[in-house]
Amino acid sequence: MTTIDRDITRRLRKVLGKRGILDSPADLVSYSYDATTDWQAMPELVLLPETKEQVSEIMKIAHENEIPVTVRGAGTNVSGGSIPISKGIVLCTTRMNRILKLDKDNLYVHVEAGVVLNNLYEFLKKYGLFFPPDPQSFLAATIGGCVSENSGGPYAVKYGVFKHYLLGLSVVLPNGTIMEMGGRTVKNVTGYDLPQLICGSEGTLAVVTDVILKVLPMPEARKTIMAAFKNVISAGQVVSEIVSNGIIPSKIELMDNWIVNRIEELNPIGLPTDSDAVLLFEVDGMTEAVEREAQQISEICRKNKELMMLRIAEDDKEAEMLWNARRAGFSAIFSHASTVLAEDVTVPPKRLPDLIVRIKEIAKRHDLTIVIIGHAGDGNLHPSILTDKNDPGHYKKAQEAVEEIFSSAIDMEGAISGEHGIGLEKRRFLRKILPEDEIELLKDIKRVFDPKGILNPGKIW
Ligand SMILES: Cc1cc2nc3c(=O)[nH]c(=O)nc-3n(C[C@H](O)[C@H](O)[C@H](O)COP(=O)(O)OP(=O)(O)OC[C@H]3O[C@@H](n4cnc5c(N)ncnc54)[C@H](O)[C@@H]3O)c2cc1C
Repeated sequence: MTTIDRDITRRLRKVLGKRGILDSPADLVSYSYDATTDWQAMPELVLLPETKEQVSEIMKIAHENEIPVTVRGAGTNVSGGSIPISKGIVLCTTRMNRILKLDKDNLYVHVEAGVVLNNLYEFLKKYGLFFPPDPQSFLAATIGGCVSENSGGPYAVKYGVFKHYLLGLSVVLPNGTIMEMGGRTVKNVTGYDLPQLICGSEGTLAVVTDVILKVLPMPEARKTIMAAFKNVISAGQVVSEIVSNGIIPSKIELMDNWIVNRIEELNPIGLPTDSDAVLLFEVDGMTEAVEREAQQISEICRKNKELMMLRIAEDDKEAEMLWNARRAGFSAIFSHASTVLAEDVTVPPKRLPDLIVRIKEIAKRHDLTIVIIGHAGDGNLHPSILTDKNDPGHYKKAQEAVEEIFSSAIDMEGAISGEHGIGLEKRRFLRKILPEDEIELLKDIKRVFDPKGILNPGKIW
Protein backbone atom coordinates (compact mmCIF):
# COMPACT_ATOMS: atom_id res chain seq x y z
CA MET A 1 0.00 0.00 0.00
CA THR A 2 1.18 3.54 -0.84
CA THR A 3 1.61 6.41 1.58
CA ILE A 4 0.02 9.74 0.72
CA ASP A 5 2.39 12.08 -1.15
CA ARG A 6 2.00 15.78 -1.95
CA ASP A 7 0.46 15.17 -5.35
CA ILE A 8 -2.27 12.92 -3.89
CA THR A 9 -2.94 15.48 -1.13
CA ARG A 10 -3.25 18.22 -3.77
CA ARG A 11 -5.79 16.14 -5.72
CA LEU A 12 -7.79 15.42 -2.55
CA ARG A 13 -7.76 19.11 -1.64
CA LYS A 14 -9.20 19.89 -5.06
CA VAL A 15 -12.11 17.53 -4.32
CA LEU A 16 -12.81 18.66 -0.76
CA GLY A 17 -11.46 22.19 -0.39
CA LYS A 18 -9.31 23.21 2.57
CA ARG A 19 -12.13 22.73 5.06
CA GLY A 20 -12.55 19.07 4.19
CA ILE A 21 -9.01 17.90 5.06
CA LEU A 22 -7.41 17.59 8.49
CA ASP A 23 -3.69 16.88 8.80
CA SER A 24 -2.42 18.56 11.97
CA PRO A 25 -0.98 16.13 14.56
CA ALA A 26 -3.70 17.11 17.08
CA ASP A 27 -6.46 16.35 14.57
CA LEU A 28 -4.88 13.08 13.52
CA VAL A 29 -4.67 11.91 17.15
CA SER A 30 -8.40 12.61 17.57
CA TYR A 31 -9.15 10.11 14.81
CA SER A 32 -6.62 7.49 15.95
CA TYR A 33 -8.87 5.68 18.42
CA ASP A 34 -12.46 4.65 19.04
CA ALA A 35 -14.33 3.40 22.11
CA THR A 36 -12.07 0.35 22.51
CA THR A 37 -9.42 0.87 25.15
CA ASP A 38 -6.55 -1.23 23.83
CA TRP A 39 -6.02 -0.07 20.22
CA GLN A 40 -4.77 3.13 18.63
CA ALA A 41 -3.21 4.01 15.23
CA MET A 42 -2.59 7.35 13.51
CA PRO A 43 -4.03 8.07 10.06
CA GLU A 44 -2.07 10.17 7.54
CA LEU A 45 -5.08 12.32 6.59
CA VAL A 46 -8.65 12.78 7.78
CA LEU A 47 -11.18 13.62 5.07
CA LEU A 48 -14.62 15.09 5.77
CA PRO A 49 -16.74 14.81 2.60
CA GLU A 50 -20.18 16.44 2.41
CA THR A 51 -21.59 14.61 -0.63
CA LYS A 52 -21.55 11.12 -2.10
CA GLU A 53 -19.90 12.54 -5.24
CA GLN A 54 -16.98 13.68 -3.09
CA VAL A 55 -16.82 10.21 -1.49
CA SER A 56 -16.68 8.74 -4.98
CA GLU A 57 -13.78 11.02 -6.03
CA ILE A 58 -11.88 10.17 -2.81
CA MET A 59 -12.31 6.45 -3.44
CA LYS A 60 -11.18 6.78 -7.08
CA ILE A 61 -7.94 8.44 -5.93
CA ALA A 62 -7.45 5.91 -3.12
CA HIS A 63 -8.13 2.99 -5.47
CA GLU A 64 -5.75 4.23 -8.15
CA ASN A 65 -2.97 4.72 -5.58
CA GLU A 66 -3.82 1.74 -3.32
CA ILE A 67 -4.26 3.93 -0.24
CA PRO A 68 -6.02 2.32 2.75
CA VAL A 69 -9.32 3.97 3.68
CA THR A 70 -10.99 3.53 7.06
CA VAL A 71 -14.52 4.89 7.22
CA ARG A 72 -15.60 6.46 10.48
CA GLY A 73 -18.87 7.78 11.87
CA ALA A 74 -18.73 8.85 15.52
CA GLY A 75 -16.06 6.31 16.51
CA THR A 76 -18.19 4.82 19.30
CA ASN A 77 -17.74 1.18 18.26
CA VAL A 78 -16.14 -1.11 20.80
CA SER A 79 -14.38 -3.57 18.50
CA GLY A 80 -11.65 -1.37 16.97
CA GLY A 81 -13.59 -1.08 13.69
CA SER A 82 -12.74 2.55 12.91
CA ILE A 83 -9.05 2.45 13.90
CA PRO A 84 -6.78 3.06 10.87
CA ILE A 85 -4.27 0.30 11.62
CA SER A 86 -2.90 0.45 8.05
CA LYS A 87 -2.59 4.28 8.22
CA GLY A 88 -3.80 6.04 5.04
CA ILE A 89 -7.08 7.95 5.06
CA VAL A 90 -9.81 8.19 7.68
CA LEU A 91 -12.98 9.09 5.79
CA CYS A 92 -15.34 10.59 8.35
CA THR A 93 -19.01 10.95 7.40
CA THR A 94 -20.18 13.35 10.12
CA ARG A 95 -20.73 16.23 7.67
CA MET A 96 -23.11 14.09 5.60
CA ASN A 97 -25.83 14.65 8.13
CA ARG A 98 -29.03 15.58 6.30
CA ILE A 99 -32.42 13.95 6.67
CA LEU A 100 -33.31 13.80 2.97
CA LYS A 101 -36.95 12.69 3.00
CA LEU A 102 -39.70 11.40 5.27
CA ASP A 103 -42.50 9.46 3.56
CA LYS A 104 -45.12 9.28 6.29
CA ASP A 105 -47.66 7.49 4.09
CA ASN A 106 -45.28 4.68 3.23
CA LEU A 107 -43.46 4.71 6.57
CA TYR A 108 -39.87 5.22 5.52
CA VAL A 109 -37.19 7.83 6.03
CA HIS A 110 -34.19 8.56 3.80
CA VAL A 111 -31.14 9.82 5.68
CA GLU A 112 -27.46 10.46 5.06
CA ALA A 113 -24.89 8.23 6.76
CA GLY A 114 -23.61 10.89 9.17
CA VAL A 115 -27.00 11.61 10.79
CA VAL A 116 -26.74 11.05 14.54
CA LEU A 117 -29.27 8.48 15.69
CA ASN A 118 -30.72 10.71 18.41
CA ASN A 119 -31.36 13.47 15.85
CA LEU A 120 -33.37 10.96 13.81
CA TYR A 121 -35.41 9.98 16.92
CA GLU A 122 -36.17 13.64 17.72
CA PHE A 123 -37.13 14.37 14.10
CA LEU A 124 -39.46 11.35 13.89
CA LYS A 125 -41.06 12.11 17.26
CA LYS A 126 -42.50 15.33 15.80
CA TYR A 127 -44.46 13.20 13.31
CA GLY A 128 -45.59 10.58 15.87
CA LEU A 129 -43.10 8.06 14.45
CA PHE A 130 -40.64 5.67 16.04
CA PHE A 131 -37.36 4.07 14.94
CA PRO A 132 -36.67 1.27 17.45
CA PRO A 133 -32.98 0.22 17.14
CA ASP A 134 -31.35 1.97 20.10
CA PRO A 135 -27.65 1.30 20.68
CA GLN A 136 -26.99 3.00 24.00
CA SER A 137 -24.51 5.29 22.27
CA PHE A 138 -27.40 6.89 20.32
CA LEU A 139 -26.50 10.41 21.47
CA ALA A 140 -23.41 10.20 19.21
CA ALA A 141 -23.57 7.09 16.97
CA THR A 142 -24.25 7.70 13.28
CA ILE A 143 -26.60 5.86 10.94
CA GLY A 144 -23.66 4.71 8.76
CA GLY A 145 -21.85 3.25 11.79
CA CYS A 146 -25.03 1.53 12.99
CA VAL A 147 -25.75 -0.01 9.57
CA SER A 148 -22.15 -1.17 9.30
CA GLU A 149 -22.25 -2.79 12.76
CA ASN A 150 -25.86 -3.98 12.40
CA SER A 151 -26.37 -2.35 15.79
CA GLY A 152 -28.97 -3.44 18.28
CA GLY A 153 -29.80 -2.26 21.78
CA PRO A 154 -32.48 -2.80 24.42
CA TYR A 155 -35.38 -2.68 21.94
CA ALA A 156 -33.99 -5.67 20.01
CA VAL A 157 -35.89 -8.14 22.19
CA LYS A 158 -39.20 -7.06 20.65
CA TYR A 159 -38.27 -4.98 17.61
CA GLY A 160 -35.06 -6.50 16.23
CA VAL A 161 -31.88 -4.76 15.10
CA PHE A 162 -30.81 -2.39 12.32
CA LYS A 163 -31.05 -4.96 9.52
CA HIS A 164 -34.77 -5.38 10.20
CA TYR A 165 -35.36 -1.72 9.23
CA LEU A 166 -33.00 -1.47 6.27
CA LEU A 167 -34.94 -1.14 3.00
CA GLY A 168 -32.29 0.32 0.75
CA LEU A 169 -29.03 2.19 0.64
CA SER A 170 -26.58 4.06 -1.51
CA VAL A 171 -22.93 3.11 -1.37
CA VAL A 172 -19.64 4.02 -2.97
CA LEU A 173 -17.64 0.95 -3.91
CA PRO A 174 -13.89 0.87 -3.27
CA ASN A 175 -13.24 1.77 -6.95
CA GLY A 176 -15.41 4.90 -6.65
CA THR A 177 -18.59 3.59 -8.33
CA ILE A 178 -21.80 4.99 -6.79
CA MET A 179 -24.45 2.28 -6.46
CA GLU A 180 -28.05 2.13 -5.19
CA MET A 181 -29.12 -1.12 -3.54
CA GLY A 182 -32.53 -2.37 -2.38
CA GLY A 183 -35.47 0.02 -2.51
CA ARG A 184 -38.31 1.50 -0.48
CA THR A 185 -40.52 -1.49 0.16
CA VAL A 186 -40.56 -4.05 2.96
CA LYS A 187 -40.86 -6.88 0.45
CA ASN A 188 -38.23 -6.97 -2.26
CA VAL A 189 -36.81 -10.22 -3.64
CA THR A 190 -34.80 -9.08 -6.63
CA GLY A 191 -31.49 -10.89 -6.82
CA TYR A 192 -29.19 -11.25 -3.84
CA ASP A 193 -30.08 -8.98 -0.94
CA LEU A 194 -27.12 -6.59 -1.13
CA PRO A 195 -28.27 -4.13 1.58
CA GLN A 196 -28.31 -7.03 4.04
CA LEU A 197 -24.79 -7.98 2.97
CA ILE A 198 -23.51 -4.45 3.55
CA CYS A 199 -25.31 -4.34 6.92
CA GLY A 200 -22.87 -5.67 9.52
CA SER A 201 -19.91 -5.66 7.10
CA GLU A 202 -17.99 -3.30 9.43
CA GLY A 203 -16.92 -0.87 6.72
CA THR A 204 -15.01 -3.53 4.76
CA LEU A 205 -17.13 -3.73 1.58
CA ALA A 206 -18.35 -0.24 0.66
CA VAL A 207 -18.83 3.28 2.00
CA VAL A 208 -22.47 3.79 2.98
CA THR A 209 -23.55 7.30 1.96
CA ASP A 210 -27.33 7.29 2.54
CA VAL A 211 -29.90 4.87 3.84
CA ILE A 212 -33.64 4.21 3.51
CA LEU A 213 -35.08 2.96 6.81
CA LYS A 214 -38.50 1.63 7.73
CA VAL A 215 -40.17 3.53 10.59
CA LEU A 216 -43.12 2.64 12.85
CA PRO A 217 -45.94 4.57 14.46
CA MET A 218 -45.10 5.61 18.02
CA PRO A 219 -46.67 3.14 20.50
CA GLU A 220 -49.72 4.54 22.32
CA ALA A 221 -48.42 3.74 25.82
CA ARG A 222 -45.28 2.66 27.64
CA LYS A 223 -44.52 1.47 31.16
CA THR A 224 -41.21 0.87 32.96
CA ILE A 225 -40.74 -1.68 35.75
CA MET A 226 -37.67 -2.05 37.96
CA ALA A 227 -37.07 -5.30 39.88
CA ALA A 228 -34.12 -5.89 42.21
CA PHE A 229 -32.94 -9.38 43.19
CA LYS A 230 -30.75 -10.85 45.95
CA ASN A 231 -29.11 -13.08 43.39
CA VAL A 232 -28.13 -12.31 39.80
CA ILE A 233 -28.84 -15.90 38.76
CA SER A 234 -32.47 -15.51 39.93
CA ALA A 235 -32.71 -12.37 37.81
CA GLY A 236 -31.57 -14.44 34.83
CA GLN A 237 -34.16 -17.11 35.65
CA VAL A 238 -36.94 -14.50 35.80
CA VAL A 239 -35.95 -13.25 32.32
CA SER A 240 -36.14 -16.69 30.78
CA GLU A 241 -39.45 -17.39 32.61
CA ILE A 242 -41.01 -14.19 31.23
CA VAL A 243 -39.93 -14.97 27.67
CA SER A 244 -41.00 -18.62 27.88
CA ASN A 245 -44.45 -17.46 29.12
CA GLY A 246 -44.89 -15.72 25.77
CA ILE A 247 -44.48 -12.21 27.15
CA ILE A 248 -42.24 -10.06 24.97
CA PRO A 249 -41.53 -6.75 26.68
CA SER A 250 -40.00 -4.04 24.52
CA LYS A 251 -36.87 -4.04 26.72
CA ILE A 252 -35.37 -6.26 29.43
CA GLU A 253 -32.02 -4.96 30.68
CA LEU A 254 -29.82 -6.38 33.42
CA MET A 255 -27.30 -4.57 35.65
CA ASP A 256 -25.27 -6.39 38.28
CA ASN A 257 -24.39 -5.19 41.79
CA TRP A 258 -21.15 -3.50 40.67
CA ILE A 259 -22.96 -1.40 38.02
CA VAL A 260 -25.82 -0.51 40.38
CA ASN A 261 -23.32 0.77 42.96
CA ARG A 262 -21.37 2.86 40.43
CA ILE A 263 -24.62 4.39 39.14
CA GLU A 264 -25.71 5.22 42.67
CA GLU A 265 -22.33 6.86 43.34
CA LEU A 266 -22.61 9.00 40.20
CA ASN A 267 -26.27 9.92 40.48
CA PRO A 268 -28.28 8.40 43.33
CA ILE A 269 -31.79 7.46 42.23
CA GLY A 270 -32.64 4.88 44.87
CA LEU A 271 -31.52 1.65 43.22
CA PRO A 272 -30.93 -0.91 46.00
CA THR A 273 -27.14 -1.11 46.35
CA ASP A 274 -27.30 -4.36 48.33
CA SER A 275 -29.12 -6.17 45.51
CA ASP A 276 -27.10 -8.58 43.41
CA ALA A 277 -28.86 -7.49 40.19
CA VAL A 278 -31.48 -5.10 38.87
CA LEU A 279 -33.75 -5.82 35.91
CA LEU A 280 -35.35 -2.96 34.00
CA PHE A 281 -38.34 -3.74 31.81
CA GLU A 282 -40.30 -1.62 29.39
CA VAL A 283 -43.60 -2.71 27.89
CA ASP A 284 -45.25 -0.77 25.08
CA GLY A 285 -48.30 -0.88 22.82
CA MET A 286 -52.02 -0.23 23.33
CA THR A 287 -52.80 1.12 26.81
CA GLU A 288 -54.82 -1.93 27.97
CA ALA A 289 -52.19 -4.39 26.72
CA VAL A 290 -49.43 -2.42 28.43
CA GLU A 291 -51.27 -2.51 31.77
CA ARG A 292 -51.81 -6.27 31.44
CA GLU A 293 -48.23 -7.07 30.48
CA ALA A 294 -46.85 -4.90 33.30
CA GLN A 295 -49.10 -6.86 35.67
CA GLN A 296 -47.94 -10.23 34.30
CA ILE A 297 -44.26 -9.27 34.58
CA SER A 298 -44.75 -7.99 38.14
CA GLU A 299 -46.44 -11.26 39.12
CA ILE A 300 -43.61 -13.40 37.73
CA CYS A 301 -41.05 -11.23 39.57
CA ARG A 302 -43.03 -11.39 42.84
CA LYS A 303 -43.18 -15.19 42.69
CA ASN A 304 -39.39 -15.32 42.77
CA LYS A 305 -38.17 -15.75 46.37
CA GLU A 306 -35.07 -13.64 45.75
CA LEU A 307 -37.01 -10.49 44.78
CA MET A 308 -35.99 -7.52 46.97
CA MET A 309 -37.82 -4.60 45.43
CA LEU A 310 -40.34 -4.00 42.65
CA ARG A 311 -41.13 -0.51 41.40
CA ILE A 312 -43.40 0.52 38.55
CA ALA A 313 -42.46 3.99 37.29
CA GLU A 314 -45.33 6.36 37.98
CA ASP A 315 -44.74 8.66 35.04
CA ASP A 316 -42.48 9.32 32.04
CA LYS A 317 -40.12 11.37 34.20
CA GLU A 318 -39.43 8.48 36.56
CA ALA A 319 -39.12 6.05 33.65
CA GLU A 320 -36.62 8.35 31.93
CA MET A 321 -34.59 8.58 35.14
CA LEU A 322 -34.31 4.77 35.30
CA TRP A 323 -33.34 4.46 31.64
CA ASN A 324 -30.76 7.23 31.97
CA ALA A 325 -29.25 5.24 34.82
CA ARG A 326 -29.03 2.17 32.61
CA ARG A 327 -27.44 4.22 29.84
CA ALA A 328 -24.73 5.43 32.24
CA GLY A 329 -23.70 1.81 32.86
CA PHE A 330 -21.10 1.53 30.09
CA SER A 331 -19.55 4.90 30.94
CA ALA A 332 -19.27 3.80 34.58
CA ILE A 333 -17.41 0.68 33.48
CA PHE A 334 -15.03 2.51 31.13
CA SER A 335 -14.15 5.15 33.73
CA HIS A 336 -13.07 2.55 36.31
CA ALA A 337 -10.16 0.84 34.53
CA SER A 338 -7.49 1.88 32.05
CA THR A 339 -8.30 -1.16 29.90
CA VAL A 340 -11.75 -2.68 29.65
CA LEU A 341 -12.48 -5.80 27.66
CA ALA A 342 -16.18 -5.15 27.05
CA GLU A 343 -17.45 -8.38 25.58
CA ASP A 344 -20.65 -9.04 23.71
CA VAL A 345 -21.75 -12.66 23.93
CA THR A 346 -25.23 -13.88 23.09
CA VAL A 347 -26.99 -17.10 24.06
CA PRO A 348 -30.57 -18.31 23.65
CA PRO A 349 -32.51 -16.56 26.50
CA LYS A 350 -33.18 -19.89 28.24
CA ARG A 351 -29.40 -20.29 28.75
CA LEU A 352 -28.95 -16.85 30.32
CA PRO A 353 -28.76 -18.12 33.95
CA ASP A 354 -26.17 -20.75 32.87
CA LEU A 355 -24.07 -18.06 31.19
CA ILE A 356 -24.18 -15.85 34.29
CA VAL A 357 -23.10 -18.78 36.50
CA ARG A 358 -20.22 -19.55 34.13
CA ILE A 359 -19.03 -15.91 34.00
CA LYS A 360 -19.06 -15.68 37.81
CA GLU A 361 -17.06 -18.89 38.05
CA ILE A 362 -14.50 -17.64 35.48
CA ALA A 363 -14.12 -14.33 37.38
CA LYS A 364 -13.56 -16.15 40.68
CA ARG A 365 -11.04 -18.62 39.26
CA HIS A 366 -8.94 -15.89 37.62
CA ASP A 367 -9.43 -13.44 40.51
CA LEU A 368 -10.77 -10.79 38.11
CA THR A 369 -13.50 -8.16 38.31
CA ILE A 370 -15.96 -9.06 35.56
CA VAL A 371 -19.06 -6.88 35.67
CA ILE A 372 -22.24 -7.83 33.88
CA ILE A 373 -24.57 -5.50 32.04
CA GLY A 374 -26.66 -6.33 29.04
CA HIS A 375 -29.73 -6.82 26.97
CA ALA A 376 -30.94 -9.82 28.95
CA GLY A 377 -34.21 -10.18 27.02
CA ASP A 378 -32.47 -11.45 23.90
CA GLY A 379 -29.69 -13.26 25.77
CA ASN A 380 -27.06 -10.62 24.86
CA LEU A 381 -24.73 -9.85 27.78
CA HIS A 382 -21.72 -7.52 27.95
CA PRO A 383 -19.47 -9.14 30.56
CA SER A 384 -16.78 -6.48 30.97
CA ILE A 385 -13.37 -7.27 32.39
CA LEU A 386 -11.56 -4.47 34.22
CA THR A 387 -7.84 -4.76 33.53
CA ASP A 388 -4.71 -2.83 32.55
CA LYS A 389 -2.80 -3.68 29.40
CA ASN A 390 0.37 -2.25 31.01
CA ASP A 391 0.22 -4.98 33.65
CA PRO A 392 1.11 -8.03 31.51
CA GLY A 393 0.22 -10.62 34.16
CA HIS A 394 -3.23 -9.18 34.80
CA TYR A 395 -3.91 -8.55 31.10
CA LYS A 396 -2.97 -12.14 30.23
CA LYS A 397 -5.44 -13.46 32.83
CA ALA A 398 -8.11 -11.13 31.39
CA GLN A 399 -7.45 -12.44 27.86
CA GLU A 400 -7.75 -16.02 29.09
CA ALA A 401 -11.05 -15.16 30.76
CA VAL A 402 -12.35 -13.64 27.49
CA GLU A 403 -11.50 -16.83 25.66
CA GLU A 404 -13.33 -18.91 28.28
CA ILE A 405 -16.39 -16.65 28.12
CA PHE A 406 -16.48 -17.07 24.33
CA SER A 407 -16.11 -20.85 24.63
CA SER A 408 -18.97 -20.89 27.14
CA ALA A 409 -21.25 -18.92 24.78
CA ILE A 410 -20.38 -21.25 21.90
CA ASP A 411 -21.06 -24.33 24.10
CA MET A 412 -24.49 -22.83 24.85
CA GLU A 413 -25.30 -22.43 21.13
CA GLY A 414 -24.62 -18.70 21.24
CA ALA A 415 -22.44 -16.21 19.37
CA ILE A 416 -19.23 -14.31 20.22
CA SER A 417 -20.70 -11.02 19.05
CA GLY A 418 -24.32 -9.99 19.35
CA GLU A 419 -23.95 -6.41 18.16
CA HIS A 420 -20.40 -5.03 18.47
CA GLY A 421 -18.87 -6.87 15.51
CA ILE A 422 -15.47 -8.54 15.11
CA GLY A 423 -13.29 -5.55 14.12
CA LEU A 424 -9.80 -5.95 15.60
CA GLU A 425 -10.89 -7.18 19.01
CA LYS A 426 -12.24 -10.58 18.03
CA ARG A 427 -10.27 -11.46 14.90
CA ARG A 428 -8.34 -14.20 16.69
CA PHE A 429 -11.58 -15.88 17.76
CA LEU A 430 -13.23 -16.03 14.33
CA ARG A 431 -11.96 -19.55 13.65
CA LYS A 432 -13.51 -20.73 16.89
CA ILE A 433 -17.00 -20.07 15.57
CA LEU A 434 -16.80 -20.17 11.75
CA PRO A 435 -15.55 -23.14 9.73
CA GLU A 436 -12.61 -22.53 7.39
CA ASP A 437 -14.67 -22.91 4.20
CA GLU A 438 -17.17 -20.30 5.41
CA ILE A 439 -14.33 -17.88 6.19
CA GLU A 440 -12.95 -18.45 2.68
CA LEU A 441 -16.38 -17.72 1.17
CA LEU A 442 -16.59 -14.47 3.15
CA LYS A 443 -13.11 -13.50 1.99
CA ASP A 444 -14.13 -14.22 -1.61
CA ILE A 445 -17.05 -11.79 -1.17
CA LYS A 446 -14.62 -9.18 0.19
CA ARG A 447 -12.38 -9.68 -2.89
CA VAL A 448 -15.31 -9.13 -5.28
CA PHE A 449 -16.13 -5.78 -3.67
CA ASP A 450 -12.57 -4.71 -2.91
CA PRO A 451 -9.99 -6.58 -5.03
CA LYS A 452 -7.16 -4.27 -3.92
CA GLY A 453 -8.10 -4.64 -0.24
CA ILE A 454 -8.05 -0.88 0.44
CA LEU A 455 -11.26 -0.58 2.51
CA ASN A 456 -10.76 -0.99 6.25
CA PRO A 457 -7.85 -3.41 5.83
CA GLY A 458 -6.96 -5.69 8.71
CA LYS A 459 -10.48 -5.91 10.15
CA ILE A 460 -12.51 -9.09 10.76
CA TRP A 461 -9.97 -11.62 9.38
C1 LIG B 1 -21.49 3.74 25.74
C2 LIG B 1 -21.70 2.85 24.54
C3 LIG B 1 -22.87 2.10 24.45
C4 LIG B 1 -23.07 1.28 23.33
N1 LIG B 1 -24.22 0.55 23.27
C5 LIG B 1 -24.46 -0.22 22.20
C6 LIG B 1 -25.67 -0.97 22.13
O1 LIG B 1 -26.50 -0.96 23.03
N2 LIG B 1 -25.86 -1.72 21.01
C7 LIG B 1 -24.95 -1.76 19.98
O2 LIG B 1 -25.21 -2.44 18.98
N3 LIG B 1 -23.80 -1.07 20.03
C8 LIG B 1 -23.53 -0.30 21.11
N4 LIG B 1 -22.36 0.40 21.17
C9 LIG B 1 -21.38 0.30 20.06
C10 LIG B 1 -21.45 1.44 19.00
O3 LIG B 1 -21.94 2.61 19.54
C11 LIG B 1 -22.24 1.06 17.79
O4 LIG B 1 -21.55 0.04 17.10
C12 LIG B 1 -22.50 2.21 16.78
O5 LIG B 1 -23.36 1.73 15.82
C13 LIG B 1 -21.30 2.75 16.08
O6 LIG B 1 -21.66 3.92 15.36
P1 LIG B 1 -20.55 5.02 15.02
O7 LIG B 1 -21.15 6.09 14.20
O8 LIG B 1 -19.87 5.44 16.24
O9 LIG B 1 -19.59 4.14 14.10
P2 LIG B 1 -18.00 4.03 14.16
O10 LIG B 1 -17.57 3.57 15.48
O11 LIG B 1 -17.39 5.27 13.64
O12 LIG B 1 -17.76 2.87 13.08
C14 LIG B 1 -18.19 1.57 13.32
C15 LIG B 1 -17.85 0.68 12.13
O13 LIG B 1 -18.63 1.05 11.01
C16 LIG B 1 -17.81 1.48 9.92
N5 LIG B 1 -18.50 2.63 9.34
C17 LIG B 1 -18.89 3.76 9.96
N6 LIG B 1 -19.57 4.55 9.11
C18 LIG B 1 -19.59 3.91 7.92
C19 LIG B 1 -20.13 4.20 6.63
N7 LIG B 1 -20.79 5.33 6.39
N8 LIG B 1 -19.94 3.31 5.63
C20 LIG B 1 -19.27 2.16 5.83
N9 LIG B 1 -18.75 1.82 7.03
C21 LIG B 1 -18.91 2.68 8.06
C22 LIG B 1 -16.45 1.78 10.51
O14 LIG B 1 -15.42 1.56 9.57
C23 LIG B 1 -16.39 0.79 11.66
O15 LIG B 1 -15.98 -0.47 11.21
C24 LIG B 1 -22.09 1.21 22.30
C25 LIG B 1 -20.92 1.96 22.41
C26 LIG B 1 -20.72 2.76 23.51
C27 LIG B 1 -19.44 3.55 23.59
